[in-house]
Amino acid sequence: MNDYDVVVIGAGLGGLSAAALLAKDGYKVLVCEHTERVGGCCSSFEHEGFTFDIGASIVEMAWIIDELFERLGKRTSDYVELLPIDPIYGFVTETGERFTYPVDREATREVIARLSPEDARAWDRFSRVGAEAINEVFGSVMCTPMSSMLDALKIGMRNPKFLKYLRYLVQSFESTLCGFFKDDKVRASMSMQSYYIGLPPALCPGYAAFLAYSEHEGIFYPRGGMIAIPEGIARAFREFGGEIRFDSTVKKVLLEGRRAVGVELADGTTIRSRMVLSNVNAKVLYLDLVGRENLPGWARRAVESYEVSIPCPMIMLGLDEAPDLQAHHTICYGTMKEMNDAYFEYFKKGRLPDGGMMIICWPTHADPSLAPEGKHALNIVTLAPYELAEGDWDSMKERYLDIMLDAVERRFRIDLRDHIITARVSSPKDFERALLHPRGAVYGLNNDLFSTAMFRPSLRSRLIEGLYLAGASTHFGGGVPTTIGSGVAVSGIIGRDAG
Ligand SMILES: Cc1cc2nc3c(=O)[nH]c(=O)nc-3n(C[C@H](O)[C@H](O)[C@H](O)COP(=O)(O)OP(=O)(O)OC[C@H]3O[C@@H](n4cnc5c(N)ncnc54)[C@H](O)[C@@H]3O)c2cc1C
Repeated sequence: MNDYDVVVIGAGLGGLSAAALLAKDGYKVLVCEHTERVGGCCSSFEHEGFTFDIGASIVEMAWIIDELFERLGKRTSDYVELLPIDPIYGFVTETGERFTYPVDREATREVIARLSPEDARAWDRFSRVGAEAINEVFGSVMCTPMSSMLDALKIGMRNPKFLKYLRYLVQSFESTLCGFFKDDKVRASMSMQSYYIGLPPALCPGYAAFLAYSEHEGIFYPRGGMIAIPEGIARAFREFGGEIRFDSTVKKVLLEGRRAVGVELADGTTIRSRMVLSNVNAKVLYLDLVGRENLPGWARRAVESYEVSIPCPMIMLGLDEAPDLQAHHTICYGTMKEMNDAYFEYFKKGRLPDGGMMIICWPTHADPSLAPEGKHALNIVTLAPYELAEGDWDSMKERYLDIMLDAVERRFRIDLRDHIITARVSSPKDFERALLHPRGAVYGLNNDLFSTAMFRPSLRSRLIEGLYLAGASTHFGGGVPTTIGSGVAVSGIIGRDAG
């Protein structure tokens, strides 16, 4: 006798989106979540009167959120208020020079023209190609499974534009951008997006370069902090009768032969279900929860061969006044070469970052209610290794904080320290402990070419019957819209499988 039709492991965006759609279709669904709140990487918490985001700080391609709520028969605006963000970015160079990119493409063209007239013309071409690439090609498959060569062929036959854009899957982010833009500063201003995929420009697939365009179709911040998105989805899920159990860590997927029949929690409780949907890192799912001993040798080796994505330590600051910034996101940037060097010379060699590159996020710019009146919250994010050559993260957090604060003060020529009311560092180890993300991985698995589309663990497990996946480890990879898309896609597969 089953307790539920579907047990979902993890209340991240992928798991919740699928859970809500399945509950709407009449399935009895339970979500088991390790922490005490929804959202995983897209979540927020309160500390000394400030609301800080745990990970994600912005939403682009918000049409996927609308698509989810539409499929739920609901209106996004009744569940979450998405505040438009403009300008998209502020930039600060090493010498303190500043400029911003507004959402409006013509206005951005004028900013680029001041940096390089030739690249202003290239911006027009990049925008045309980017619009087609995002809206008609890559964006169009975010809610569509791509688990096999056959799936890819079917998509290609339905939309021949895929062939035209195939090269952006195999060429790098760096060569894609360099194919459009010549000026180093312009190139650099569009390079940080490669880290959104978790790789430096030299290794990141070329399609991601068009994120620098897609942001000009609108970017948003949810009122109440990033947690407002998963909370909105969770509310819809509960309205359809769905249940969420917090502080419930799944320790095992229960198997009968090669079939998933439920889960066992860390406290020993067993829950029987017809199907299990995992929203956790796919390596953890297969090697620990299913158990490496239950996988054939070739499958175990294949799962082991996936690399988990980068970690991103975060500094969360509560300030007693508004910072001297011009945008929700400020990018302290370097050239593409410096971005590649940061990966190969610091990240790969276990060195703490030097503060040369970082994103400063200012959520109270969009939503002042996230801090006491007149006060402000800031997040400082950068890429850093999980293992440090000179010690471990638990003992290096103070040093890391110092390095990054020095870097901000140097670049902005301000006394930031004089205005800090509260400061917290969330290291890769903290992130791992909080969300059980192995090695603090922020996007599940690496997003290089060989871990993309049909090379990524598929939404319907090929190894265990009745087991499904959603979230950053599956197609289309990490990101707010992409993981919601994975939830939409997997709910469709489950519906078809169940007849
Ligand atoms: C620092 C950072 C910045 C980011 N910035 C952006 C951004 O600005 N824009 C953007 O679009 N994306 C961003 N992302 C990526 C985006 O937030 C994630 O890719 C997305 O939210 C992941 O969703 P998911 O469905 O994979 O679930 P996850 O967020 O991975 O959630 C998984 C859930 O499962 C739970 N769990 C784990 N193990 C178990 C277990 N054994 N039992 C029960 N529960 C378990 C965890 O507690 C967690 O709640 C960022 C991510 C990070 C970390």
